[in-house]
Amino acid sequence: MKYEPVIGLEIHAELNTKTKMFCGSLNDPRELHPNINICPVCMGHPGTLPVINEEAVKKVIMVGLALGGAIPEFSQFDRKNYFYPDLPKGYQISQYQHPLVQGGALEVLNRKIHITRVHLEEDTGRLIHDKETGATLVDFNRAGVPLMELVTEPDFRTGEEVRAFGEELQKLVRYVGASNADMEKGQMRVEVNISLRPEGQEKFGTKVEIKNINSFKFAADAVNYEIVRQTGVLERGDKVVQETRGWNEHAQESFSQRLKEEAHDYRYFPEPDLPPLHNTFEMVEELRARLPELSAAKRVRLVSEYGIEQNIAEILTREKTFGEYFESVMSELARADQDTPEKPKRNLARTAAALMTGDFLRLIRETSSPLSEILITPENFAELSLYLAEDKISNLTAKEVLEEMMCTGVDPSDFINQKGLWQMSDASDLENIVAHVINENPSAVDALKQGKEAILQFLVGQVMKESRGKANPKMVQEIIRKLII
Ligand code: ADP
Ligand code: MG
Repeated sequence: MKYEPVIGLEIHAELNTKTKMFCGSLNDPRELHPNINICPVCMGHPGTLPVINEEAVKKVIMVGLALGGAIPEFSQFDRKNYFYPDLPKGYQISQYQHPLVQGGALEVLNRKIHITRVHLEEDTGRLIHDKETGATLVDFNRAGVPLMELVTEPDFRTGEEVRAFGEELQKLVRYVGASNADMEKGQMRVEVNISLRPEGQEKFGTKVEIKNINSFKFAADAVNYEIVRQTGVLERGDKVVQETRGWNEHAQESFSQRLKEEAHDYRYFPEPDLPPLHNTFEMVEELRARLPELSAAKRVRLVSEYGIEQNIAEILTREKTFGEYFESVMSELARADQDTPEKPKRNLARTAAALMTGDFLRLIRETSSPLSEILITPENFAELSLYLAEDKISNLTAKEVLEEMMCTGVDPSDFINQKGLWQMSDASDLENIVAHVINENPSAVDALKQGKEAILQFLVGQVMKESRGKANPKMVQEIIRKLII
């Protein structure tokens, strides 16, 4: 019998607000020292009262709008009661019956994944198990940090869809400025719910929840592992046990953590210390007007407007600032060309896009500084792309100039002039060098005459060497063919 996987996600993201969810303590992701960003409110001292962080509410609404969800006029916080050492109050303020966002969807790999809800809650502190002393320490810097939780419908069927969704959502929350969503820092965390059902059956099977996965690749791995494990259980004639499992990325297997019987009763009730929220039409519309163009839409537009490849557009739109930089370069290129005041010619756009997603991106990663601190202006980048597209410099030279521009912010033409890096494109100059190389390599010339095409590249290489890398390789090929073949 064949089984169909059914998968739903719960994703948490810490919001990048200035202060915490219900008090004025700093929300500082750097967490330089333990227990410095705390106050009586987020420590749950008796007699203190929480105050709702408006910025956090707005960020979640922005995410909801970006997903096409509904923003109900009425929303409310609830208490979720449980005891744990990283939870100072003995309860977490969350949302249960009336979340900020209902519905919405995100399309990935040509499938529409429906969103059940997005709500706002507070994060917990962090326990540190000290290996040396055996003691458990607690750091409350994270306690009370605004946390968005998004729940999807069980619409996924494969691990690959889970990964694609996670990566798209990560871009979305970054584009709207809601969260930095760095998974390595725990700013975004994913839980996977997965069950199998016999193919053709409507009713869902028993689900297993895999918690605390800190990368979307691991989430996909965990899904693929669980599909195999649960298939094995069902084919043996056993029943899947409803439980919470963890994922061991080193062993590449999931392991049981706790069974359904141990599940909590959270005794939810409306938070008596906070007023309900009344989201006005005006406020929601104002936020809607502030929504930026999202990564997915921008990707499609870059392909159609500039004629660049799909995979190049994908790289350009991973980060909002990178795509914006690209478009600044595009308008500089358009402006430089009298014929195309609107959009640059497609070959120019493609050359610039390739340079940006290749050497430029590599250099940015190596320096690991934000794009805003890079010394290369879009105007200078456009100029360099133009020289490359017009064969005035070689690929190798472009790379060298780019490295220099990165370090000093130099104007490309100044540097190319100073170093004499312009490509040789004068036919008679090149013919002289080619003639010289032909004289020096009679056996290679014979081989080429006998049809050994591979020898052509060798001869081009010799000319490049002779010209100290400045000959135009396309012209050199043509001249060799003309003189020999
Ligand atoms: P719970 O009450 O156990 O938290 P929910 O109904 O709130 O379960 O759903 C939690 C997540 O599990 C959602 O993402 C949902 O899509 C997913 N889910 C629900 N039922 C199943 C199932 N049978 N198989 C896989 N995922 C499921
Ligand atoms: Mg749940």
